[in-house]
Amino acid sequence: MKKVLVIGGGLVGALHAANLAAKGHPVKLYERRPDMRNVEMVAGKSINLALSHRGWKAIRMVGLEEHIRDVSIPMYGRKIHDIEGNETYQPYGKEGQAIYSVSRGELNVALLNLAAQRQVEMNFDWRCVQVDFDKSTAHFENNVTGEQRTEKADLIFGTDGAFSQVRADMMRTPRFNYQQEFIPHGYRELLLPAGENGSFQIEKNALHIWPRGGYMLIALPNPGGSFTCTLFMPYTGKHSFTALDSDSKIDSFFKEVFPDFYALVPDLLSNYHSHPLSDLVIIRCYPWVRHNTCLLGDASHAIVPFYGQGMNSGFEDCSVMEELMVEHAENWPKILDRFQELRKPDADAIAELAMRNYVEMRDLVGDPRFLLQKKIEAKIHGKHPDKWTPLYTQVTFSDTRYSVALSDGKRQEKIMAEIMARPDIEQVWDSGEIEETILAANSL
Ligand code: FAD
Repeated sequence: MKKVLVIGGGLVGALHAANLAAKGHPVKLYERRPDMRNVEMVAGKSINLALSHRGWKAIRMVGLEEHIRDVSIPMYGRKIHDIEGNETYQPYGKEGQAIYSVSRGELNVALLNLAAQRQVEMNFDWRCVQVDFDKSTAHFENNVTGEQRTEKADLIFGTDGAFSQVRADMMRTPRFNYQQEFIPHGYRELLLPAGENGSFQIEKNALHIWPRGGYMLIALPNPGGSFTCTLFMPYTGKHSFTALDSDSKIDSFFKEVFPDFYALVPDLLSNYHSHPLSDLVIIRCYPWVRHNTCLLGDASHAIVPFYGQGMNSGFEDCSVMEELMVEHAENWPKILDRFQELRKPDADAIAELAMRNYVEMRDLVGDPRFLLQKKIEAKIHGKHPDKWTPLYTQVTFSDTRYSVALSDGKRQEKIMAEIMARPDIEQVWDSGEIEETILAANSL
């Protein structure tokens, strides 16, 4: 058995700690924040995340599927709200396929509870300040008492998020590559309150999008009838957070560009001001392993949230490592080496896909030609599931490697660009000829 240290008790760290403890390893988990299991969650105030196939696979692996299903809401498609307040609906996949809205807090608490049940030693309010990779030790400081402590372990996992301390120490080691990119857009959360008697004011089982070209608003349902909404917008420019520099501008902006949303939120201004403006960062680095220490989740690959895959990919790190543990029978140098080799191209691929999906969400989902293309692809997939799987389906409803999905998606995109360039496509999209042309190009 290996003495394991997990640094960071967020989503990925808690799940990984619980999984390693189930194998009988003695695991210590260190988290810089207080124990969130003691903090009462305010109903309808929690931030939610979209959980899909890859995340479910890891949650199933640790035995929490039933519990998380009970507290999550399926979203079967996108509901698009145009500027006049008209709505259109696009299913995400085949009938019954859904992504799930789940509270970040509830999910994290469930994973921490599981880790505690499995005898993981929990240390909250302890911040990692330094890792010594040669000695396999990590140094911590208590946020409350200022006490200092050093832990030695056989294996150290850095699951301390996008601004990882473990990674910061790796940056001081030779030949460590690192890139941090803040995109020009930030985000601000808003709460769309529940209607009378906890009813949902807009469609419950959908992810709502108000696409407006350079920016967008989205909403995910919460169990109590409210929706957690997020406004994604550039920091600067005509339509930007900086331009919304007074209450009257904020009010008229929402009234003009999101009129149906505006009508449902009575206290828009206090709602707007009660949530901070936050950044969106992409982190790329390599290697992820130094001796016995390995980065996982956002610490090694933080991405923008537009494909809903950040947590899902972090959870997939844990299930891929589990498969490698089985394959290499506790040969940890081999497991860690293989892990980073396998996962790095997939992390890069989902980072690229997530950025591309932003353009799709804020712009293309409102475009009739884009919708027609999706309809054609869905038809081909429905009739020939073994030959054509749309990119979104590969990413969201399968565990096809992200790198494979990306290259397949690029190939499909070329085929579809030619099909969509036909001047008569609106008339012939449903024809046998189009179907045959796509399948023939696909088999080349
Ligand atoms: P984190 O969740 O950041 O956890 C890191 C933990 O480490 C924290 O608890 C932190 O307190 C702790 N820590 C940090 N430093 C130290 C230290 N020095 N010592 C000890 N502990 C430390 N992903 C999805 O899959 N679906 C979505 O719909 C989705 N939506 C998102 C929406 C937004 C607006 C954003 C910003 C992200 C979204 N994500 C989504 C991404 C997702 O939030 C992250 O990928 C996920 O939280 C990563 O988990 P993690 O455990 O690696 O890191």
